[in-house]
Amino acid sequence: MGTGPAGRIYDEFSQLIGNTPLLELHRYRKNRDLPGRLVAKIEYFNPAGSVKDRIAWAIIKDAEETGRLKPGDTIVDVTSGNTGIALAAIAASRGYRAKFYASDNISPDKIRILDLFGVEVVPVRNEFFLDPEALEKITNRIREENPDAYFTDQLANPVNPQAHFDNTGPEIWRDTNGEVDFLVAGVGTGGTISGAGKFLKSKKPDVKVVVAEPAEGSLPTEENPYPDEIDGVHKVSEIDPQLLPGNYDGSVVDEIIALETADARRTVRALASEEGVFVGTSSGATLWAATQIASRPENAGKTIVVVLPDTGERYLTLPSDHRG
Ligand code: PMP
Repeated sequence: MGTGPAGRIYDEFSQLIGNTPLLELHRYRKNRDLPGRLVAKIEYFNPAGSVKDRIAWAIIKDAEETGRLKPGDTIVDVTSGNTGIALAAIAASRGYRAKFYASDNISPDKIRILDLFGVEVVPVRNEFFLDPEALEKITNRIREENPDAYFTDQLANPVNPQAHFDNTGPEIWRDTNGEVDFLVAGVGTGGTISGAGKFLKSKKPDVKVVVAEPAEGSLPTEENPYPDEIDGVHKVSEIDPQLLPGNYDGSVVDEIIALETADARRTVRALASEEGVFVGTSSGATLWAATQIASRPENAGKTIVVVLPDTGERYLTLPSDHRG
């Protein structure tokens, strides 16, 4: 028997979200002689396939309860794909329409899935995000172009980190019986790290929160606006705090580990071939960072929980030179 939703007939899609399983990576650890224990939280068990189902549902529920969203309304946001897919699936299950602004470098598989849900996708050139004020500008543009739509605003909506504080964090605490020493995740909006990290620290103040971020060679520049990127996550170190997503709370973060996309992709392959778990590139990134933590002798026997946000099947049609 699994640990996910089971044991009854559910009435609606949103009831299938959350309670994703933790899997201890015994073979992966043994193969590398790692002193620390690695435990993966596998978010592709969510019904629309990623960690983003959690925030999409929390945001829609909040908007319904506060009377800002009614049947037939349109939902808009800026997304690197997973939030869009999650919002679109929930929108379909509740009778809303959806329109998303997405960088034109995201995986073609994600665009196909959005299309299948009947979503309108507005492509935004990747160079646009090089502008330090990109987040503010895109937010203003979305509000201007869609005055009648409900803007879910995943980058700054406080319901996003709250969903992780209320669910992702408590699930980890419950399923490890409080035996957790590290939480490792990436930062897109910052919701996961800020919400789940804050919850775990409230239970056990010496839990360490670690961010995996893209290193220099995996970031777009003026000269190379389309490098091989880690879909869904951004650099947070050495960035003007004013320019970080509103939902990123740097005060809960103890360490930031940078890596290149090629390392993330190698880790994806290793996890698939050693444990049978096939995840997306940002999961490869978080596991790579978690592996560094687990390899430190002072972390012998410590439990490192690593969030794996989505499935590798969402990236299969990337150009092969981008697949590693
Ligand atoms: N990985 C992937 C693939 C994502 O889509 C996202 C969200 N953009 C993240 C990681 C980061 O999650 P968060 O927004 O909670 O920081």
